[in-house]
Amino acid sequence: MTRINDKVVDRLISDYGFKVSGDWLREGRCPDCSKKSLFTHSTTPRVVKCGRLNKCGMEVHVKDLFTDLFTDWSATYKQTDISPNAAADAYLAEGRGLSINSVKGSYSQEQYTNRELGISSATVRFQLPNGGWWERIIDKADRFPRKANLKYGYDLKGYWWWHPANTQLPTELWITEGIFDAMALNEHGLDTVSSISCSNFPEHSLYELKSQYNKEKRTLPTLVWAYDPDKAGKDYTKKYVKLAESMGFDCVAAQPPYEKHRQLDWNDLHEMSRLTPEHIEHYRYLGDLLTATSATAAAVIMYMHTKRTSFYFEYNYRTWWFELDTKALSTCIGVDKHQVGAYMESVSDSTDVDEQMPEFVKSCSTVTELCNAKLEALYFQRNEITDESWYFMRVATAKGAVTTTITGDQLSSPSKFKPRLLSVYAGVFWTGAAGQLDIIMRHQTEALKEVKTTDFIGYSKEFGAYIFNDIAVHKGKSVSINEQDYFKLGRLEVKSLANSPMMQLNTKDKPNFDWWPKFNKVRGDYGTVVMAWWLGTYFAEQIRGIDRSFPFFELVGQAGAGKSRLLEFLWRLSGREDYEGFDPSKATSVAIYREFAQVSNMPIALIEGDRNDEDGKKSYSKFEWDQLKDAFNGRSIRSRGVKNNGNDTYSPPFRAAIMISQNEPIQASEAMLTRLLHIRLTREGQTLEGKYIVDELDRIPLEVTSQFMVKAIRNEEAILQTYKEKVRTYEAFYHAAGITHTRIALNHAQVAAMVDCLHLHVLDGIMTDEQAKTAKSTLIKMSEQRVARLSNDHPLVEQFWEIYEYLDSLADCNMNHYAADKKKIAINLPAFYKIAQSEGQRLPEQTEMKRLLKSSRKHKFVDSNVPVSSAVYKSKTVKCWVFEQGAD
Ligand SMILES: [Zn+2]
Repeated sequence: MTRINDKVVDRLISDYGFKVSGDWLREGRCPDCSKKSLFTHSTTPRVVKCGRLNKCGMEVHVKDLFTDLFTDWSATYKQTDISPNAAADAYLAEGRGLSINSVKGSYSQEQYTNRELGISSATVRFQLPNGGWWERIIDKADRFPRKANLKYGYDLKGYWWWHPANTQLPTELWITEGIFDAMALNEHGLDTVSSISCSNFPEHSLYELKSQYNKEKRTLPTLVWAYDPDKAGKDYTKKYVKLAESMGFDCVAAQPPYEKHRQLDWNDLHEMSRLTPEHIEHYRYLGDLLTATSATAAAVIMYMHTKRTSFYFEYNYRTWWFELDTKALSTCIGVDKHQVGAYMESVSDSTDVDEQMPEFVKSCSTVTELCNAKLEALYFQRNEITDESWYFMRVATAKGAVTTTITGDQLSSPSKFKPRLLSVYAGVFWTGAAGQLDIIMRHQTEALKEVKTTDFIGYSKEFGAYIFNDIAVHKGKSVSINEQDYFKLGRLEVKSLANSPMMQLNTKDKPNFDWWPKFNKVRGDYGTVVMAWWLGTYFAEQIRGIDRSFPFFELVGQAGAGKSRLLEFLWRLSGREDYEGFDPSKATSVAIYREFAQVSNMPIALIEGDRNDEDGKKSYSKFEWDQLKDAFNGRSIRSRGVKNNGNDTYSPPFRAAIMISQNEPIQASEAMLTRLLHIRLTREGQTLEGKYIVDELDRIPLEVTSQFMVKAIRNEEAILQTYKEKVRTYEAFYHAAGITHTRIALNHAQVAAMVDCLHLHVLDGIMTDEQAKTAKSTLIKMSEQRVARLSNDHPLVEQFWEIYEYLDSLADCNMNHYAADKKKIAINLPAFYKIAQSEGQRLPEQTEMKRLLKSSRKHKFVDSNVPVSSAVYKSKTVKCWVFEQGAD
């Protein structure tokens, strides 16, 4: 059996380049400062530290470096008859660094099964009074909605867990929230109990304790309330101190030190060797500040501790200023004014010298309020491209807190800071002076950490992670946004500055794809192909990394053919509700490029809005499809000027994928047409039954549909592996089958490989082999049609020439203004349209037709607006569109 410890040592050496030197591991590469300055113990590595204490100071627990090693305890430590608690023991000893000898017999290893999710885990279970128990899940606890359970139906209220190693009648008793915290403090010589939760006041246990002391005629112990330093822990501490005092107990508090970016509990401090007597003294001081009865009382405690004559501090969610009148104090204590500092320094605890000292300080100082909220700078964030930056701050009052951005400019003067505060939190006033604001902000922002940003939603190639609004997915694991509004992905701290699009992704429940057979029934192979392409868009950046391109998709069909509802359903698979796409012909170019720049690894759907404008006139898209060409390879489609100090132009690379949905195929160059996969939907075969199924699909809640995308991106590794294995095979197959246009062959091979990914890694066990096979056959037909389309005209141009031939064949209409032997065709479009109309032939609007005719192949376009001496109008000159007479 390999101990996790040994695996940790191996990984430290292989992943961070540590070298063994005696009892130490040294020269590991620091993930923060990149210097070879990490060190840790070699026999039992727990906390890894960077040796550049002042310049870096990085400190991380091996649990956070190698989370994978610390998740599956019962798989590593098998339960046997001889060691029934093997995994529980290892969890406590290696996972939490606790000694198990002092608690032996008070816990056991059990099994917990969550029936809803159909998963189970080993647990460490501790016995509680009156036949109850509390247990912690230890195998991949993240899978479960809760990491700990109480015995079903058990009422804990009023009782605590008593540490079995406590002395009989202790003089001081520490009360923590969790059992592990009580165990950690106990190892440092303290007598401890755990109330399991901060909302459980252990009233009955306290009465029982009191009666024991009374029986032995002993003085009651002092209670040390040692709850977590969060809002609930602090609020309950103050409440319980009063309650317990009313029962006759002397009470004080102790608090783990507050750190902005991680909440440390007693167990963490134990592992970081920060529970020495000096440390504990400091934590008691923090507790005294918490339980101080007024701001002035807190200020005096602080002064006695720090001996600083002026400082700002927080008390009860307000910010205060303390100012000592040194002259007045010198009179009180009877020393010269200039000797007060030296005098105070000379006595380590001035209350030993003079019990009246706190009273003197109180009477000789002033405490004023600077702000009726607590202000805290959490981190710094910057948009590298626009060079804009913000301090991300928390503004907290007793009623609640908001986090918000404040610019450096706003922080620099009260006249800007005051209105900003008022606008982020109603009624929060800054009433301090400029100098006080400077001192607070200098203290708060010095060496503030910086959180990395992206300016789009979706996959970041740079960070190898999917970053959405409130969840991120990194290496197959989803992470929720933390309280401070950023994602912690291993050592990486990142957030997106983009607010839209909003994606609602369900990462919690077990995926349910019961909708697939219904979808397949109404959408058939075309549906599978579109879905496979859609799945591919989630990996467009990685796929372009492999093949340099990701195909566009063109979904064509007459009104009512079901394009919109298909698109809307696909969007729902990606967590977007009531959305189909946007109409580029109606958007300004700035808006279009914003749409293009704000997403990564998801489709951008360009749809055709209502073709008829308000006057009932047909309006044709002015959007030039050819400008999208470069997006195929992920290159920028436009440069935009950004307002920053330099003259830089920012050209964001294209990170998404393009879906075009129109009534008619788009008109564009051959280069653009070869980049498209094309499907035409028709109303043919639509039935009432089919309509009901589509309605049913629309009613599936987003929590269910969005599991599609979640499952897909969590399986990133497997999907890309399958993609890489299959795409080359299919590409060769297409070439062998006669699709020799390399780009068309690759486009279709890519989507064929994604059909396999859909089949094997997303709809596994749900989509049948036959369904995957027929979808791939459909793709082959699509590629053949694409090749054929390239050698033909646009359907509307084909239609134009059909009408031309028809009109030309009529007895009294000669449409060609050139003489018959010229081998060229000259058409006067206004006249042509007039005659076509009188003959009942429908044509697209002239402007649109003109655009399309330039690409005519049947009769190759030569020039427009050429003056021609008309053979029809007896040599009168008319303006004509001229084409080469093609062979029939
Ligand atoms: Zn470092």
